[in-house]
Amino acid sequence: MILPVTQYGDPVLRKKGARIESVTSEIHQLIADMFDTMREARGVGLAAQQVGQTLQLTVIDVRGVKERPSQLWISGQPADADSFMPLVLINPVVTPVGDRISGPEGCLSFPEMYADIERAGEVEVTALNERGEPFSFRAGGLLARAVQHEVDHLNGILFIDRMDAETFRGLKTELEALQAATRAAKAGR
Ligand code: ZN
Repeated sequence: MILPVTQYGDPVLRKKGARIESVTSEIHQLIADMFDTMREARGVGLAAQQVGQTLQLTVIDVRGVKERPSQLWISGQPADADSFMPLVLINPVVTPVGDRISGPEGCLSFPEMYADIERAGEVEVTALNERGEPFSFRAGGLLARAVQHEVDHLNGILFIDRMDAETFRGLKTELEALQAATRAAKAGR
């Protein structure tokens, strides 16, 4: 089922997600709905807060973006990122590694807004999968960027918080308009 994507100005986007202690049938349904929602919106990642849930849960699929490659290592060995997709991360812990790299980002909660954001070029990740089993991997390229963007969401952090001051100032009017529209829509519901 496709869910409404929460937009900037909705306070749920600023809430830290609760840890998931057991992967119930409700969580499985939420994961399926998040994939439907992400694919409909043509996103590469979606966090629980973006569908109104304050949980440590995100889904990622970078296969659609051929022009921005991803790298993957499992147990130190290079692996095929595409066949690792789609990815469900529950209670993820991310350790940044490697040099910081600037690259373009957008966010489904900020329609039509894009900016270059500096992030670690690679990350070590441990999480639970959709069966509640622990797993870990190292990611680079677009996958590393997507993981950092989505895990930020789980902690109430948005990509506008990571922009340089000049970029943020450039988007200020648009951001204020989006925030006002979101609040008005919520008030009218
Ligand atoms: Zn986002």
